[in-house]
Amino acid sequence: MAKKILIIEDEPGILLSLRDELESEGYIVYEAGDGEKGLALTKQHKPDLIILDIMLPVLDGYEVCKRLRMAGDTTPVVMLTVKDKEIDKVLGLELGADDYVTKPFSLRELMARVKAIFRRTEERAKDFSTYKFGQIELDFRKFEAKKKGKKLELTPLEFQMLKLFVQKKEQVISRDDFLDKIWGEENTYVSLRTVDSHVANIRKKIEDNPSHPKHIISIRGVGYKFID
Ligand code: CA
Repeated sequence: MAKKILIIEDEPGILLSLRDELESEGYIVYEAGDGEKGLALTKQHKPDLIILDIMLPVLDGYEVCKRLRMAGDTTPVVMLTVKDKEIDKVLGLELGADDYVTKPFSLRELMARVKAIFRRTEERAKDFSTYKFGQIELDFRKFEAKKKGKKLELTPLEFQMLKLFVQKKEQVISRDDFLDKIWGEENTYVSLRTVDSHVANIRKKIEDNPSHPKHIISIRGVGYKFID
């Protein structure tokens, strides 16, 4: 079944070229020119992915993303227009976007991100095992994580990263390994800092004391190691 993508963007030129590109790739495209309409269309069409500009009339992209996540909506979001210093905020707990591209971006770059997100979503559907460590329970089939029996809100990407940690228990995983295994061939545009930012989010969710993590250990200058 064709995947549905909602573009929330107020610049007609960008909207048009995105729509053309996505439709030529076989996606069903919806578009909204402001944040409020974007939220309404999300409810109405339940898209599989949202491409969200930050500078928007009525409600800006930050607010749209925040409201979606607060409402428990986990639809993957790719943010447009992000200055480097805003990356942590965009990918952080409060906003919880899945990825971002900086304007001006190339269509190829954006398409690579979109495909990477869909690939991860599909992989998660295929998988079915569970894993427990400490007070954390992971169900890779249902894509659910619990801490002390309470559901944890992990994004698909965080879940995939956590799975890689579990698969490579007690082994050092470099940031480049994450780029290869999680972002795959489309990793050319992903920075190592993106990996760090997602790891920080995972820690906040699973660790009792994220500044003194017991499960996801930093290996200085290399990457991370998972211990259960
Ligand atoms: Ca804009």
